[in-house]
Amino acid sequence: MRPDPEDGTTRRPRGGDLPWAPAWLRAGTRRVPARWRAGGPAVVAGRALLLVTGALLALTVWVLAPDAGDTLVLAGVSAAALALLAGSAVLPWHRWPVRAALVFPLTVMGALAVLGTSTEHLAGAYVPFFVLCFVYVGVFLPPRTAFGLLPVAVPLYLLASDDLDLTVVVRTAVVVCTWLIVAELLAQLARRQRAAADVLVRDARTDPLTTIGNRRDLEDRMTRLAPGDTVVVCDLDHFKQVNDTHGHAFGDQVLREFGAMLAAGLRRDDYAARFGGEEFVLLLHASGTGPAMDVVDRLRQTWRDGGGATTFSAGCATLDEVTTAEQALVAADAALYAAKRAGRDRTRSAEAADGWGPRVGADTVRDLSHEF
Ligand code: GH3
Ligand code: MG
Ligand code: MG
Repeated sequence: MRPDPEDGTTRRPRGGDLPWAPAWLRAGTRRVPARWRAGGPAVVAGRALLLVTGALLALTVWVLAPDAGDTLVLAGVSAAALALLAGSAVLPWHRWPVRAALVFPLTVMGALAVLGTSTEHLAGAYVPFFVLCFVYVGVFLPPRTAFGLLPVAVPLYLLASDDLDLTVVVRTAVVVCTWLIVAELLAQLARRQRAAADVLVRDARTDPLTTIGNRRDLEDRMTRLAPGDTVVVCDLDHFKQVNDTHGHAFGDQVLREFGAMLAAGLRRDDYAARFGGEEFVLLLHASGTGPAMDVVDRLRQTWRDGGGATTFSAGCATLDEVTTAEQALVAADAALYAAKRAGRDRTRSAEAADGWGPRVGADTVRDLSHEF
């Protein structure tokens, strides 16, 4: 399976790009090159924090009529922010904890402190950006991060402020309380929202009867298959009879047990989903047809040893450089029906079943019915 482009693993990132953003913003950012969307939500929002503060500063600074010295300082600060912005596209964020994104608000606050100490006319005008930094920390970083940031943020705030007097001291105390309240409230809300979204995403991708992946999840996983991966379609034999003989509730229990057997019997990288009814699909990582059929044989043996109420048939197809996952699924399905026609309780490969059309190979039917 191909690694996930977002985090370099084969896991799907939860919520995709900017799950927290309104629809119009998500639609807009889809047009942004993938490099600038990489790094996870905290990094993407960190870049946005730099851009928004930079844009607001650029739009308003002319009102303050900066002199040549102020302009020079402003240019230096902007260059540093732009350097971080450019560097953020190549930094290996996925190797670092999410708190590494603190570099974005720290850069903004550091820039404000430099403006406060090194310019004649700009000091104090931009201190409200500190609140924006704490909003960012609250929404995108773990709860209580704001407390850890205070020992750096308070001195930077004082440097960015006007001359220190009692008013500034009192204002700093009020501002610090405001930062903490805003950041912690947002952090708690964001945590609850993420937990609720995780439950929704998990439910949307789970088959409620067997608790393995459902068809929607399978379709997503299939987009990440790579050459060498094998698609296996399994179908319980004469399942209608099981229902007719023992009742629908018993049939449901058989499906549950079959799903649990698949989930327990596969390697960590491999994957099982209920495709629908009594059909299940396995995605086997870089196994090739022979090893994949060995895996299915092993599952068949486990199912039999566990006293499975009925047998199952399977068809498998391995992707190569020219086949898509959808073609492999169709070929595996054709191989399954060849296995059914051949007497059920067996596995057939797409090559053997001519499921690939012109690409006929050696007959690799595995008939295990004699072992029952
Ligand atoms: P074959 O060996 O050719 O696959 O025969 P079959 O009887 O397994 O296949 P058929 O397509 O004729 O019947 C499938 C049965 O699976 C019929 C349907 O009622 C049952 N089924 C589908 N979904 C569920 C379910 O969620 N629970 C139960 N208990 N039965 C289900
Ligand atoms: Mg069936
Ligand atoms: Mg069926």
